[in-house]
Amino acid sequence: MAISLIKKTKLVPNVDPRHRAWVEVNPDAIEANTKVVKNVLFKSCLLMAVVKADGYGHGAFTVAKAVLRGGAQSLGVATLQEGIDLRQSGIECPILVLGNLTNPEELGACIDWDLMPTLSGSKESSLCNQLAKQKNVKVRVHLKVDTGMTRLGCELNEAPALIHEIDNLSSLDLQGIYSHLALADGDLDETSAQVTAMQKQKFDNLISQLAKRSRSLCKHLANSAGTFLDDQLHYDMVRVGLALYGYSPINQERKDVELQPAISVKARITFVRDVAPGTGLSYGHKFITKVPMRIAVVGIGYADGVARSLSGKISVLVKGQFCPQVGSITMDQLLIDITNFPNIHVGEIVTLIGSDGKKAITASDWSRVIGSIPWEILCSFKYRLPRVLI
Ligand SMILES: *Cc1c(COP(=O)(O)O)cnc(C)c1O
Repeated sequence: MAISLIKKTKLVPNVDPRHRAWVEVNPDAIEANTKVVKNVLFKSCLLMAVVKADGYGHGAFTVAKAVLRGGAQSLGVATLQEGIDLRQSGIECPILVLGNLTNPEELGACIDWDLMPTLSGSKESSLCNQLAKQKNVKVRVHLKVDTGMTRLGCELNEAPALIHEIDNLSSLDLQGIYSHLALADGDLDETSAQVTAMQKQKFDNLISQLAKRSRSLCKHLANSAGTFLDDQLHYDMVRVGLALYGYSPINQERKDVELQPAISVKARITFVRDVAPGTGLSYGHKFITKVPMRIAVVGIGYADGVARSLSGKISVLVKGQFCPQVGSITMDQLLIDITNFPNIHVGEIVTLIGSDGKKAITASDWSRVIGSIPWEILCSFKYRLPRVLI
């Protein structure tokens, strides 16, 4: 949920002086990215926007509204609670729960909130049917089939029988079948291309085995990477997350795809001090000054989502200038070197991710430094950072 500002006093939201650190979210960028994704799809291909993990840290409700404006037809979430939160905020479009719901309480709530469960086996299918019957409703479901991710999904060779079984369960309405690519990020090397081709082949085999029955099913396989890689992976719908938030999943970028990051992470300078040569900075004195330096304390730390492993490896932007982060990042604060910028004072806004003037820092810059991926960086910003819409 987006955290709104205290409304008592009127202040320009993105410079609220009561905020020490915050996340700025630009819904227009998410809407524009949604249109960019729609542009690479055939007219008949549907777009499911994946808004799990609080919309990859951007605020699920904010993202949901933006992607629906941009033309997405449905939403995907990971957990039951994420789906319920969206329904409680008034989102009415179809929502698919991508995770596996196993017990009657979860499946029952899923039905009550009109969320579509993903089924991977016969046990949940009959349980879901039983619950739906008791509630006197027909439940729309999708079946997941494993083609090589080896995570959720029934075995490929069990799928035809399972589909037949579900078709015979009178309170279930099988709307779709899907699988998930093991390819998501990184270089499109020979191995990843082979794995994707193998997964596609398996999915195609199943579809042809199902013959006529497959026609009325919504078939879907691609994530962001699959969507940009090859339109043969699109089928009837694609499930896109990362690209909607402005990041390209693959290192080889497509020229026709212009995505804009929708998030900025900002904090304020809370203290400035001059330090003599030979002074140890922050925990462990991992950084010792060699020359006189001016150091600024910034009110954001690893408890806000700035990973401690980034210590000493990133720069931040202040007044359009890169300033190196120095010493260990602590729970609530970090230090930056402002020796070369005498015009920087307490209260100044520091951009950790985002742009300031002509310069910019992205989640990909951080993920490269610590051997992570942009997905992980985006969903790492904590609730202590208010989400401010710009
Ligand atoms: C997270 C997820 C997606 C979206 O993946 P991106 O790489 O962010 O586009 C699609 N499908 C499933 C099943 C997922 O779990």
